[in-house]
Amino acid sequence: MLINLTDVFSSEGKVKKINIPYDQDSFAYNSNVYPVSNKSEISVTLTNIGTGNVLVEGNFEITLTIPCDRCLQSVNVPLSVAFTHQVLSPEKENAASEKTSNAETFDEEQCFISGYELDTDALINNEILINMPVKVLCSEDCKGICPVCGKNLNQGDCGCDTFVPDPRMAAIKDIFNANKEV
Ligand SMILES: [Zn+2]
Ligand SMILES: [Zn+2]
Repeated sequence: MLINLTDVFSSEGKVKKINIPYDQDSFAYNSNVYPVSNKSEISVTLTNIGTGNVLVEGNFEITLTIPCDRCLQSVNVPLSVAFTHQVLSPEKENAASEKTSNAETFDEEQCFISGYELDTDALINNEILINMPVKVLCSEDCKGICPVCGKNLNQGDCGCDTFVPDPRMAAIKDIFNANKEV
């Protein structure tokens, strides 16, 4: 969704509040697709704080269904997201980029502003990405799945002998021993 910010950019002190529905029913990340099981509207406040700067503040709640890292069982992961970004009006942005020849000083946060328009999908997807948990577990003491038979060990022991010597490790050991003898 694109929101035109011409009115906010053109008058200092202007405050604009908007509520945006999150219209995606899944979130794609790293070639995985996580269903959205619960979500709130995204409330955004835009404030012109002078000299071409606009503050973009907002918050929303979203619950993604993500498989447990150990046993692959679906886990509902609620995310509470709050963000604040400062963006420059297009004229100021152009003036700033002309002054500096170093492209690296370019503000990455401008990626969700195109001209006078705020790309709310880009903004929101970026915020979800930043707030994605590094690790998802169905419970702290999840036992995972058996490497031999694939049974979910939270549902009981399978009785497999899980000690499987890795042939690659044995090869590395041989190399170590060979080096020692030299
Ligand atoms: Zn688990
Ligand atoms: Zn097993």
